[in-house]
Amino acid sequence: MSANKQEIYLGIDLGGSKILTAVVDDRGEILSRDYRVTPANDGPDAVVREVLKSATSALVPLGIAMQELAAIGIGAPGTSNPGRGVVFTSPNLPEWHNVPLRDIVVRETGRKSYLINDANAAALGELYFGVARGVRHMIYVTISTGIGGGIIIDGQLYTGSVGTAGEIGHMTIDANGPRCRCGNTGCWEVLASGTALADRARQQIRGGAKTSILDDAGGDLEKVTAPVIQAAAERGDPLARELIAKTGYYLGVGLANLINIFNPELIVIGGGLSNIGEALLSPAFQVAGERAFKEAYQAVRFALPELGADSGVLGAAAFARQSVSGEDQ
Ligand SMILES: [Zn+2]
Repeated sequence: MSANKQEIYLGIDLGGSKILTAVVDDRGEILSRDYRVTPANDGPDAVVREVLKSATSALVPLGIAMQELAAIGIGAPGTSNPGRGVVFTSPNLPEWHNVPLRDIVVRETGRKSYLINDANAAALGELYFGVARGVRHMIYVTISTGIGGGIIIDGQLYTGSVGTAGEIGHMTIDANGPRCRCGNTGCWEVLASGTALADRARQQIRGGAKTSILDDAGGDLEKVTAPVIQAAAERGDPLARELIAKTGYYLGVGLANLINIFNPELIVIGGGLSNIGEALLSPAFQVAGERAFKEAYQAVRFALPELGADSGVLGAAAFARQSVSGEDQ
C-alpha cells in the first residue's frame, strides 16, 4: 500500500434479497453506497448484471472511474472457493451452481477482484473495523433465517482447504433431528435459527396450543415469523417465551461446541434473531456455560456486532485489501 496516496476499494455484499455496494477507503470509511434488490429468482445472469450495475452506480457520486479502484471484494452467500473465485452453491440464490463470479467481475470491470463467503466477510468487517478490533481468536455467528459464521484464528480468517470452513450453521446438533435445507438432519440452523423458531411455533399452533401468536399473524400460519413471536413474548405470551427459550437452548449447545473446539476470546453474535436479546441469549449462555469446558467458557466474551448492516461490505473491501497486498509482497 502506498503511504501517501489513499487506496480506494469496492466492497459488494451480495445477499439473497439485496445487494449493498460501498466504496471504502483503506481506513474503513464508507465514501458512497448503492443499495438495490437482488433479482434472485431471475437466475445467476440477472443477478450478476445487477451486481455490475451496482458497482458502477456506487462510483457515480464520487466521480471516480473503475480503473482508480485498488481492488474489488465480493461477499456472496453459500459455499464458495475464494481461491478459484467460484460460488459452488447457495440456498439463497436459486440456480447458482459453480458460478465463476470473481472472473466475471474481473472481466467486466478490469479490476482485481476477490470472492468471499458473506458471513466470512462480516467476520472480517468486525475484525478490522468493528467490535473485534485487536482480537486474535474470534468466532462470528449470524443468526437469521439460517446460521452463518466466520472463524478468525491468530488474527486471520480460516477458510479451510477448499474454502468452505465456517459453515457453523451446519454442524450436527441432533443427528436424528429435523431435515435441513442442506440435505442433512439436525443441523444447528434447523434448531436455533429464526426459521427454526417459527417452525416450532407453527407446529405447536397446529397441535392446538393456546397462544396469541396466531392472532398477531392475522390468523395466517404463514405469517408466523420470528418478529411476531418476539412481540408476543414481550407481551408475556407463555408459549412464545417457551419457544424462544427452547431456541436459546439449542443456540447454547452450538456455542458450547464452538467454545470447546476453538477456545475463542470473543464470540460476536449478530443477525436478525439476536435482536430478541436476553430472552434468547441468556438461556443460550447458561447452556453454553454448563456444557463447555470451564476454563474455555470463563475465557470467552460475547458481544454484539458494531457495524450493523455494513459489516459485509466493509469486510469484503478489507478482504480485497488484504488479498491484493498479499499478492504484491
Ligand atoms: Zn444443514
